[in-house]
Amino acid sequence: MKNNLYFASIAGLSLEIEMRNGSNSEVRHDWSMKEVRALFDLPFNDLLFQAQTVHRANFDPNEVQVSTLLSIKTGACPEDCKYCPQSGHYNTGLAKEKLMQVEKVLEKAKQAKEKGSSRFCMGAAWKHPSEKDMPYVVEMVKGVRELGLETCMTLGMLSDDQASQLADAGLDYYNHNLDTSPDFYDKIITTRSYQDRLDTLQHVRDSGMKICSGGIIGMGEKATDRIGLLVQLANLPQQPESVPINMLVKVKGTPLENVENIDPFDFIRCIAVARILMPESHVRLSAGREEMSDEMQAMAFMAGANSIFYGECLLTTPNPEAHEDMQLFKRLGLRPEQRIEKTDDEQEASLNQAIQKEQNSHRFYDASSAQH
Ligand code: SF4
Repeated sequence: MKNNLYFASIAGLSLEIEMRNGSNSEVRHDWSMKEVRALFDLPFNDLLFQAQTVHRANFDPNEVQVSTLLSIKTGACPEDCKYCPQSGHYNTGLAKEKLMQVEKVLEKAKQAKEKGSSRFCMGAAWKHPSEKDMPYVVEMVKGVRELGLETCMTLGMLSDDQASQLADAGLDYYNHNLDTSPDFYDKIITTRSYQDRLDTLQHVRDSGMKICSGGIIGMGEKATDRIGLLVQLANLPQQPESVPINMLVKVKGTPLENVENIDPFDFIRCIAVARILMPESHVRLSAGREEMSDEMQAMAFMAGANSIFYGECLLTTPNPEAHEDMQLFKRLGLRPEQRIEKTDDEQEASLNQAIQKEQNSHRFYDASSAQH
């Protein structure tokens, strides 16, 4: 196999990045802040070229996974995430809604499938699901799966037992974002700790579900916080299968409503670095797409983003309308990724692979060690 070596010399630091043509680039869990900073400091074209090369070694470059997101319980959340219009701590004029009925959720899922989504994500504004709500969410998972869609939920923190219940119901993915770096975290959220988030991710992993975890760019964080976030995600014992990179949507009434705009190129750099660090993960161009031009979205796909949310609403913030997305796909020659059902043999093979991987990995992860 022919290997390509890329050299970057930035601020006295020589960085050698090896990429294997035609095979998966190696998944590493030991990225240092210094190495990742060097990637961010590359000339823009060099960074994009590297990201696109990694992307092509792992994915069809013209396929984009399409998910639909539905808010199944809206507003009045006890958490104080400073970017979020659903937090009960801020007055954003958002209409609160109780947990949706199971039949209504299934109706929405059916519509999403008809519009070309392969995954249906359900989000509830909770600190964590209560025991009385669990039977309903379990029913939702089972019903959406029966429609032939992949399932994803984001319900806040999960205990070990709740994660197992959801996994037993057939939930494919659980979304729980790290949001930002450990250092910047308490400027954004004070009602749950970074370690709480890592614990939930561990429970999800232990239950056998796939992880969707990423963060938000443009909350007033420093460059070093973006590096810190991506290092945390990449250095998890097993990298998240899905990594949403959100661009802050500034909502009136939230503490971040007047934060300074992020340079679009800095946002694209985050996508590109996420792609290089997590070569086998789907990198999702997530919240904030409504405010991005078609050209910026195209550049994000070039940088390695290969997943989007589809539909008019992203939980409570606007998203480009579905037909606009399809037009953009057409103009760029992109196709929605098809869901491939695995046979029993394939499922068994991937389970064995996962067990082996787990046995070779460190069971516990010290969040602070990744910073150095
Ligand atoms: S981001 Fe989630 S946990 Fe935080 S306030 Fe919003 S709904 Fe609640």
